[in-house]
Amino acid sequence: MPKTVEYSVFSGSESGDILTETVRRTIQSNEALVEVTHAGLCGADKLSKTKNIPLGHHGAGIVRDVGCAVQYVKIGDRVGFDGSQIPCGNCDYCIGGKEQYCAQSEHFEKVGSFATHAVWHENVLVKLPEGVESKYAAPLMCGGAIMWEVLTANDVKPGDRVGIYGIGGLGHVAILMSSALGCDVVVFSSSESKRHDAMATGAKEFHVTHDIVPGAPVAPVQHLFWCRDRPPDFSKLISQVSCSGTIYILAVGLEAVSVPMQLVVKNGIRIQGCSNASRKTMRKMLQFVRLHDIRPWIMTWPMTADGIQDAFKALNERKMRYRGVLVGECGD
Ligand SMILES: [Zn+2]
Ligand SMILES: [Zn+2]
Repeated sequence: MPKTVEYSVFSGSESGDILTETVRRTIQSNEALVEVTHAGLCGADKLSKTKNIPLGHHGAGIVRDVGCAVQYVKIGDRVGFDGSQIPCGNCDYCIGGKEQYCAQSEHFEKVGSFATHAVWHENVLVKLPEGVESKYAAPLMCGGAIMWEVLTANDVKPGDRVGIYGIGGLGHVAILMSSALGCDVVVFSSSESKRHDAMATGAKEFHVTHDIVPGAPVAPVQHLFWCRDRPPDFSKLISQVSCSGTIYILAVGLEAVSVPMQLVVKNGIRIQGCSNASRKTMRKMLQFVRLHDIRPWIMTWPMTADGIQDAFKALNERKMRYRGVLVGECGD
């Protein structure tokens, strides 16, 4: 007999207020009830705040109940999650460990990470390893997994010179991970005030830019991670990248931008996108994080309507250093 559970979900609204909704949901045979202990806030969530949909897409929690056919997790397990889609499990992307691109994925209803609980299909959950605290794992399920996907799927190697634009939620994780991987990390920022944080997270060089161009010439990088939330001016950015190097677009707004094709062709530049990571990548990322004791810099707020509103305020005012984490009643 499937169990029905009740929990609270925080949703956005047209006015921007945070609404608290009670959700009644039956746990299907292959689903698990997760008590959310920590949820990460990222730039993508800003788009949901003025819509009447559950907020938050990544986080960590504890399994409190399971459907009768669940095999991967058990009650009491600590798990992480990101996204609100169940991949089909059968297409080429799914069986190739790239299920984030599955075109047949199904959307979960009324589920988000800003909530007391969530009911997820077990196939979207990732067990958290010992030694990785949930408050750090939660924000890494999104930005950390994307960065690991980018680093590993594109053969970024120790010793490679990588450039990072934008030290925010994603950018600081990019510095932490690529420096732990042994890369020569170069940070570009419009603000001198970020120098200390860039060097403290593992950068070897820091360059202040004006309109994305550094004040003095900088040796080009092989991999350039664009982590700012507005689109780049490619004609200026390409000059920072060595011939046959790659520009990775990791955070963007909704605007279209023009690309100087002649420069791209002449210099053999690759422009690479990446929006999400597979569960396989998430597991590998968590192992890497455990091995290197990587901890994102976080600021915490309580998982309440006021706490969520305050966290959004810090994000909008660019005061977040560097990832916001909403902490549930059972979190620490
Ligand atoms: Zn699929
Ligand atoms: Zn995110």
